[in-house]
Amino acid sequence: MFKLAELFSNDTIKAILDRYKLIWSINHALSLLGWDLETYMPEQGVKERSIATSQLSVLAHKLLIDESFVRLVDKASDMKDLNDYERGVVRVLKREIEKAKKIPPKLVEELSRVTSEATVVWRNAKAENNFKVFEPYLAKIVDLMREVADKLGYDEHPYDALLDLYEEGLKTRDFDRVVEVITPRLKKILDRVRSEGYYPESHPLEDREYRVEALKRVNKSILELIGYDPKTLRLDVSAHPFTTSMGVKDVRITTRYEGKDFRRSILAVIHEYGHALYELQIDEKLATTPLAKGVSLGIHESQSRFWENIVGRSRDFVDLIYSIVAEELEYVREYTPEELYRYFNIVRPGLIRVDADEVTYNLHIVVRFELEKLLVKGEIKVSDLPELWAEQYEDKLGIKPKTYSEGVLQDIHWSGGSIGYFPTYTIGTIVAAQIKHAMESDLGPLSEVISSKKFDSIKTWLREKIHRWGSTYDPKTLMKKSLGEELNPERYIEYLESKYIKI
Ligand code: MG
Repeated sequence: MFKLAELFSNDTIKAILDRYKLIWSINHALSLLGWDLETYMPEQGVKERSIATSQLSVLAHKLLIDESFVRLVDKASDMKDLNDYERGVVRVLKREIEKAKKIPPKLVEELSRVTSEATVVWRNAKAENNFKVFEPYLAKIVDLMREVADKLGYDEHPYDALLDLYEEGLKTRDFDRVVEVITPRLKKILDRVRSEGYYPESHPLEDREYRVEALKRVNKSILELIGYDPKTLRLDVSAHPFTTSMGVKDVRITTRYEGKDFRRSILAVIHEYGHALYELQIDEKLATTPLAKGVSLGIHESQSRFWENIVGRSRDFVDLIYSIVAEELEYVREYTPEELYRYFNIVRPGLIRVDADEVTYNLHIVVRFELEKLLVKGEIKVSDLPELWAEQYEDKLGIKPKTYSEGVLQDIHWSGGSIGYFPTYTIGTIVAAQIKHAMESDLGPLSEVISSKKFDSIKTWLREKIHRWGSTYDPKTLMKKSLGEELNPERYIEYLESKYIKI
């Protein structure tokens, strides 16, 4: 069905892609197993599922570092006359092979064993507000991740090696500069928003309960409004919203229904739709190749945040969905569209990252970045974390956690060994603002595009500039090529100022 020949003509590359199809197929199966685990699997299936998952991962790993396969990739990397797609295949595979070869199997095994235990321990520790039981696990994980950084190698900072796992080419130094630019200005915007009082710190709609069936219909109508095709996309329910891609024609998203504060479920759908659209609009001629996935977590997150924040929380979008929401949730009729907009844009410095608004969100990330950097460098100990966490929150957001659960224990990431991951959320918000800027110079003001329901022009723009390429270009090259500039935190600050500070 998919013709590769049009994009790939080099015989060595064609041989590589032929071999890669088996690795792709295993990953395809792993994605489906992972999606099923979070959605429909009966609870007691978990033990056998984890055996199947780890065995399949071992098989994919073996195929990737198989000598004859590596030799083919090395041969291709010496070739001069490759096109952009072919060079992309070599770049992506060399990165994967290098990672697989540099980290010894014993370290991979230990990490997997420690993190699967630690995730269970973390869940209980958080529920019981007990940092002490999680502390030894986290200390072990930090040690192991420092070892990973050493094995992978780095020029300046061991944290560079971990950042690169999630955001190709991102350096600690780059992110330090981002933090320097955004931190004081975010604090300033927050102060202005709070003193002006237009955007509320809380709203009565947060406490209103909804019937799940009614909100499910709202979510479906909103997806239809922005261009949902049930032939390629499914929406299901899970404890935490996520997106899984099985291929360029089969992507699954989820949302959650908590029973009140309905904007959370709606915004999760729009967020995951952004992730899904990226995968669905990859050039189908790239299907089954190493290029058939979003290029990095930061660029991926830029897609979800663009839809969630820049589209979903805009005045024009809220006006559009007002009647959809009010039809199913009768109490919404007590409020004007403007009130609904204010409810979607509550700004409140809080302790919990996942509940944060557009203005404060990245201050939460700065806290984690500063602490991770010190942990990985060995400059602080895990036992120092609760105190340093509180200090950082006081400094960045002006509030201190009273419990571990609402402080250092709140995120799942560290228990799973994801250190160096948080900055990609900030990269995503910044790139989303850059996309808005670039898109508007082509399509005119986004507010008009949205109010006239021209979601197709937004989707086409994203497809041509970002999506169709998959992982063909590394993130920095893609941005320069498609947005005309590198990572530029100024665009994000400009966007926030124009939305939140009335001049
Ligand atoms: Mg996301």
